[in-house]
Amino acid sequence: MELINNASLKSFVTFGVEASCDHLYRIEDIEELKLAAQFLENPLILGGGSNVLPIGDIGRNVLRIELKGIEIEEEEANDPLVHIGAGEIWHQFVLWALDRNLGGVENLSLIPGTIGASPIQNIGAYGVEIESVFHSLEAVKLGTGEIRRFSKEECRFGYRDSIFKQEAKGQYIITGVTLRLTREHKVNTSYGAIQDVLNQRGILDPTIQDVSNAVIHIRQSKLPDPAVIGNAGSFFKNPIIPKNQYDTLKEMFTDMPGFPSEDLTVKVPAGWLIEHAGWKGKAIGHAGCYEKQALVLVNLGGATGTEIWNLAEEIIKTVGEKFEIRLSPEVNIWK
Ligand code: FAD
Ligand code: NAP
Repeated sequence: MELINNASLKSFVTFGVEASCDHLYRIEDIEELKLAAQFLENPLILGGGSNVLPIGDIGRNVLRIELKGIEIEEEEANDPLVHIGAGEIWHQFVLWALDRNLGGVENLSLIPGTIGASPIQNIGAYGVEIESVFHSLEAVKLGTGEIRRFSKEECRFGYRDSIFKQEAKGQYIITGVTLRLTREHKVNTSYGAIQDVLNQRGILDPTIQDVSNAVIHIRQSKLPDPAVIGNAGSFFKNPIIPKNQYDTLKEMFTDMPGFPSEDLTVKVPAGWLIEHAGWKGKAIGHAGCYEKQALVLVNLGGATGTEIWNLAEEIIKTVGEKFEIRLSPEVNIWK
């Protein structure tokens, strides 16, 4: 375990904002993690820092989870279970799976962050969520240091949501995740621009590697690389509104996209709302709304967490005034 007193979080969060915490513990060992969970008061848990925005200095302990290891059960099985330590990097794991011809996570290629954070918001992209391959996870309870296993049902996954963002918020440290991958591939190319890229490449019968390559290509052309321009991906969740509200809005804004569900709700792309409220490519001070994807807020250089949050609040206000839809942050705000 490494302990850094009065640590700067700037290089540990992809927004690249300046913020300090009282003590930063970098933990690679499960026994040390159990002790930290038992004895440190109310710590914040950090993975790759790609979905948090610290605002100002954090007068708390921060535990950065760096537990490693990937183990495969029943190596020869068609649908093997794979257990992955919480501190492994998500995309490195996707590459590991592709190398072994194991499918199920190819649409989730290039999502930043760690394995341990992946169930927190049920990471999703291009029509696939981690829920679809999820088997179980182990977590340490804060306060007692006890280990608990959560089944898929117990995680209560929803759209960018799980029990860890609801009633179990801030109560557990995820130490490992078990996923069920497959050698019997069912590629999913129906979503977003994947099929266009495959067509351009003349690929008629795509492999999981082709799908991963297409996703990586689209993401690299559209999203800012956090190593170059600070950001945390989509800042807001896509709002899900009642169908009758959507129908009324659609009469006024005829090109407003919407994706209906069976439960008479419609998901509206937040990026479209923000763009049509006039924010795309705009900035307040050092905080900007990304020019290629309005859903992504960016640190244009030297922004503080407060500046980014002020921009987010202005966006929430103007989108609310124009569309009567209240945007909620997807990013976890640390104050
Ligand atoms: P962190 O940012 O470190 O933490 C996120 C939250 O999880 C915090 O509340 C933290 O306390 C908690 N947490 C972290 N680790 C643990 C643990 N071991 N136990 C308990 N709690 C923990 N997300 C998507 O869903 N789909 C996308 O396509 C996507 N694209 C992105 C693109 C870019 C360019 C960026 C910057 C982000 C994107 N994200 C996306 C958001 C982000 O990558 C994911 O939410 C990711 O899972 C966060 O992982 P992390 O390790 O960085 O978590
Ligand atoms: P996109 O393909 O331009 O689509 C815009 C929005 O429309 C997305 O938010 C997506 O919702 C929705 N959408 C598109 N096709 C859909 C379909 N067939 N059915 C239902 N909903 C559909 O989006 P993008 O910005 O380039 O992102 C591509 C994918 O990567 C998306 O799945 C997005 O969620 C994911 N992504 C996530 C983050 C993050 O930080 N969370 C960052 C970048 C990209 P969904 O978002 O619900 O998929």
